[in-house]
Amino acid sequence: MLIRTGDTVEVQTGNSRGTRARVLSVDPSRGKLVVEGVNRVYRHIKRSQKNPQGGRLSKEMPIDASNVLLVCSACGKATRLGCSVSNGGVKTRTCRACGADLGQVGRAKEVPAGQAAASA
Ligand SMILES: [Zn+2]
Repeated sequence: MLIRTGDTVEVQTGNSRGTRARVLSVDPSRGKLVVEGVNRVYRHIKRSQKNPQGGRLSKEMPIDASNVLLVCSACGKATRLGCSVSNGGVKTRTCRACGADLGQVGRAKEVPAGQAAASA
């Protein structure tokens, strides 16, 4: 998964299709991410000592990472990501539309190129 917290993504599916928003958190092990204002649900809270009013709490739920595309900071298009691994083992993301370098992913480590592509 090549999307990180703080990225801007465009949602491709569901009610929020076309929405561009910031990624609040990612869960790489499940391939999910939370996007600001997308897939918002309301939790109905009972009155309690902590929350004497009770009421509704709105909260974003995670969506599948395959349902969003990263918005390229260089060309502004929602794009799929290319990924290349340098000799030092640093994974770098690139925009498939304009080829811009979109920063590195994770920490530098020794990963064979084929394996890196499979896990992305
Ligand atoms: Zn681009």
